[in-house]
Amino acid sequence: MEKIVEDWKANAKGNLNENKAFLKSIPKHKSTDKLVSDLHDQVFKKVDCLKCANCCKTTPALVTRPDAKRIAKHLSIPPKTFIRKYLLEDIDGELMIARVPCTFLNEDNTCQIYEVRPQACREYPHTNQTGFSRRSKMNANNTIVCPAVFEIVERLKKADL
Ligand code: SF4
Ligand code: SF4
Repeated sequence: MEKIVEDWKANAKGNLNENKAFLKSIPKHKSTDKLVSDLHDQVFKKVDCLKCANCCKTTPALVTRPDAKRIAKHLSIPPKTFIRKYLLEDIDGELMIARVPCTFLNEDNTCQIYEVRPQACREYPHTNQTGFSRRSKMNANNTIVCPAVFEIVERLKKADL
């Protein structure tokens, strides 16, 4: 993991423009998504999220209304109270966790609401999901948030697409 994190720290910002262009150019095929999903499995064998938590520390997680209802129930508070106390609403009406680092992140990088965490947190960094190849902007931005995404993209650049 150390090598992946060191490489990410040294190169993610410098490679951002190149990675933006590369991710925009990749074939928008299911075969690309499958290849990325395989790279995801390989890379996450080497990456321990509990030693990182950079996503929880730097990026406000999106929270859907069903997420809010589920988490509020878990916390034994009304959904409206949960939304007022812990979330922000953007101009499009989308809800997100109000603070970074996330209010629910523990000192040891575990999540206080892990069992009921937002769907966006469950799915992050979205590298093993159908449609990867069509989300170039988000994927490029994630290369500077997530060492695993950076590594996946660097390996993808060497693959036969
Ligand atoms: S930023 Fe990536 S590697 Fe770090 S905790 Fe989040 S998903 Fe795991
Ligand atoms: S809810 Fe949990 S998994 Fe999601 S950002 Fe907060 S600490 Fe991380």
